[in-house]
Amino acid sequence: MKFGFDIDDTLINLREHAFHLYNKKLNQNIGIEVFRSINTVEIHEAFGLEKEVGNAMWVSLMEEIYFTDCPAFEGAIETLQQLIKDGHEIFYITSRPKKYCTQTREWMKAQGFPVQDHHFYCGMQDDEKIATIKELELDFYFDDKPAVLETLLEVATKVYIMDQSYNQHVDLPRMKQWSELEKIIIK
Ligand SMILES: [Mg+2]
Repeated sequence: MKFGFDIDDTLINLREHAFHLYNKKLNQNIGIEVFRSINTVEIHEAFGLEKEVGNAMWVSLMEEIYFTDCPAFEGAIETLQQLIKDGHEIFYITSRPKKYCTQTREWMKAQGFPVQDHHFYCGMQDDEKIATIKELELDFYFDDKPAVLETLLEVATKVYIMDQSYNQHVDLPRMKQWSELEKIIIK
């Protein structure tokens, strides 16, 4: 079968990693419970920043957020390795900016994710992912972001939402941890 995965906050814990970096850069010590209660994809409100300032901060730190030691979610790497062993195909579909695509692909390999270069799709807008998902005729696709998932309600692909504080209103089957994937496939 063909499996598609978003990367940020689906396979790796990027927002939380960024939250710790923001604390460091802003010389603050905002608690993780504040992070867990944020119901937007953006994290700047936890630091009392206006949208514009928050967005500028994200852009200025992007390279550091992406390419330092952001952890994968528990079981993500092992689960994807097992899919490959079982003969499935894996595709990554990320809306990270084009200029970071090659570095992202290599960073994912370095973390231990099984990546084939021609199965790595990067640099599209959130609402453009649907074209790739349809073209690849994926059996399954996993993402966390409401703006993406809302474009996928009519596709034949089985779409799963990675459970996060900011996507609780989206009515789709949910994945809470990667160890659940095996059950989903068998269903
Ligand atoms: Mg994401």
